[in-house]
Amino acid sequence: MTVLTSNVRSDFGNAIGLLCRECGASYELGAAYSCAECFGPLEVAYDFSGVTREAIESGPSSIWRYASLLPVSADAAAAPNLNPGWTRLHSADRLAAELGMRKLWIKDDSGNPTHSFKDRVVAVAQGAARSLGLTTLACASTGNLAHATAAAAARAGMGSVVVIPANLEAGKTVTTATYGGLLLAVEGTYDDVNRLCSELIGESITEGWGFVNVNLRPYYAEGSKTVGYEIAEQLGWRLPQQVVAPVASGSLLTKVDKAWRELSDLGFVADSDYRVFGAQAGGCSPVAQAFEAGWDAVRPVKPDTIAKSLAIGNPADGPYALDAVRRSGGAVAAVSDEEIVSGIRLLARTEGVFAETAGGVVVATLARLLESGQLDPEAETVILNTGDGLKTLDAVLPYGQPTAVISPDADAVVELLTNVP
Ligand SMILES: *Cc1c(COP(=O)(O)O)cnc(C)c1O
Ligand SMILES: [Zn+2]
Repeated sequence: MTVLTSNVRSDFGNAIGLLCRECGASYELGAAYSCAECFGPLEVAYDFSGVTREAIESGPSSIWRYASLLPVSADAAAAPNLNPGWTRLHSADRLAAELGMRKLWIKDDSGNPTHSFKDRVVAVAQGAARSLGLTTLACASTGNLAHATAAAAARAGMGSVVVIPANLEAGKTVTTATYGGLLLAVEGTYDDVNRLCSELIGESITEGWGFVNVNLRPYYAEGSKTVGYEIAEQLGWRLPQQVVAPVASGSLLTKVDKAWRELSDLGFVADSDYRVFGAQAGGCSPVAQAFEAGWDAVRPVKPDTIAKSLAIGNPADGPYALDAVRRSGGAVAAVSDEEIVSGIRLLARTEGVFAETAGGVVVATLARLLESGQLDPEAETVILNTGDGLKTLDAVLPYGQPTAVISPDADAVVELLTNVP
């Protein structure tokens, strides 16, 4: 066991080592992701002394303004990358009115370079890959990560190997293929893809590859903290009272909570109570099931839902997401495919934000939690839209038709509009 010191390798900024989440064993920074003693997941540890809010505020309008809180070198922004982050936080007044809420915001991560929040995690993993001398970015993906990894590798002139389930949406497969690199479609679920990638790490052919969400996972996961940092800063350095986050592996939800605890500990925001809520699709809801049953463990399921970006049946961070939710007094709920489509349409109609299926899951879950009384309509709430609806057009195709097909004739339009009920 290594003793952590602040004699850091500046390649990783203020990160000082890796710690096992389960037994606390410590390791040097490297391409390690599971504890040699107990197989628990490893997490980055830091020395944040010297980090100031003023320095953050004077940083670039991207995730790199938080470089001092991430396992990346201070000049991470200078290396070729897609500069994700600093996405819009919309005040969602019309949606709030429709749902009977006092104050609601939507953090819209569809504005990222490849139109999902995955650009954040890939950018941090890419920095780690560079620091470790790796030359190929690889990933096991439910779709958006494929898109983000292939694009980030292209931008930096790195190789890419992207592994996806063969049944993904065309909007994700086609874009990924266009960025170039190797795209392997597996006849199986995401969980099969993930297991395959873990096995490949042992093969000599993959030497020099960084699987962003497998052997670089401790770094990758830290990228999700930037969603939490941005929300706090965009609210004027304070925390909302409730947040609703989508849950696939459970990493994003866990890291938003971690980001807010870090900001409180650093004194960058006033220490205030907030509740964390998780959103899943009914066709893949292992974390919601565990929450409702009161289990600590998450039992794997076989996914069957239109929300393919959230279709992880065996979520690596499920237990930690459950923990964050329970500790904060929140809840995890799941919604049907029909509710997901209604959620997408409601958000588009009220706020002009066109979400992919994961965003539909969040909006529908918000409505569900309000109905059940688990979420307080009077408390200030932020919901996350993590991807762009253009990626999952099939979900709304039946509703996405013109009101009428007409000839270019003004009289015909007048007649049509006069007769519209
Ligand atoms: C990956 C993904 C998530 C959730 O990510 P986890 O960190 O694995 O829980 C949410 N929304 C979209 C659109 C995603 O692609
Ligand atoms: Zn351990």
